[in-house]
Amino acid sequence: MQQALAATEAPILQIRALHKWFGDLHVLRGIDLDVQPGDRIAILGASGSGKSTFLRCLNFMELPSEGEISLKARPIGRPSGQGSARQRSYAQAELCEVRKSVGMVFQQFNLFPHMSVLANVMEGLLTVLRQPREEARRRALLQLEKVGLADKATAFPAQLSGGQQQRVAIARALAMEPEVLLFDEPTSSLDPELVGEVLGVIRGLAEEGRTMLLVTHELGFAYHYANKILFLADGQIHEAGTPDQVLKHPQKERTQRFIERFT
Ligand code: ADP
Ligand code: MG
Repeated sequence: MQQALAATEAPILQIRALHKWFGDLHVLRGIDLDVQPGDRIAILGASGSGKSTFLRCLNFMELPSEGEISLKARPIGRPSGQGSARQRSYAQAELCEVRKSVGMVFQQFNLFPHMSVLANVMEGLLTVLRQPREEARRRALLQLEKVGLADKATAFPAQLSGGQQQRVAIARALAMEPEVLLFDEPTSSLDPELVGEVLGVIRGLAEEGRTMLLVTHELGFAYHYANKILFLADGQIHEAGTPDQVLKHPQKERTQRFIERFT
């Protein structure tokens, strides 16, 4: 029954034949993926395999070189060019809309150092969503409460631990009420004792049924909280499946070798 329901639900994100070149460097080499509402997709892969570029293409911080991304059945960008030169062109206003729907949390937090925690979380609400200051403040405080940092609202990023800074970054992403959350190695620059508090916040979001894609090397976390695992190699999805399939019974040798390194 549940499967029948899931099958009729439109994907939030539909990615088809996605390619990305940086000059001559062919980084993404044809990625196809449907992201269903409530999916928690963990993305694994060696350094340089294209994980960050893939996430960045999903909220158009990087523009795809080729292929199509649809957000709730709406293709992003207009087709331009024909035949082998088939491409899409992107309008700024449209990209701005997409970035509201697809939030991103970075490895390095990327908070504004000269702004208080509260101002960091309010910033997008004021400048992108153009909310009145009081409403932005209310929403920002709500999100800070959610990540357990309401008492740090007036602090500056440098006064916080790395784990706290990352929780602020998550609150900032959540404040925009995105439909999809992208996490790019959110715990990779944290001291080991701070990883747990950030994974705890992400776990809470997973349990709420949020749709998320998470690049991580925390295989234990991925095993328990993801419903799908992708192993990226050379800019392609080398192996994909459930956590049991990919992490416990990988079919491909390269996946096996990668997983052995982390367990
Ligand atoms: P990962 O996140 O899996 O480590 P990345 O997506 O960051 O991989 O990078 C994939 C490849 O693309 C690497 O070779 C990297 O050097 C290259 N790359 C990433 N971003 C850029 C860029 N803006 N310009 C040129 N090359 C880039
Ligand atoms: Mg990366």
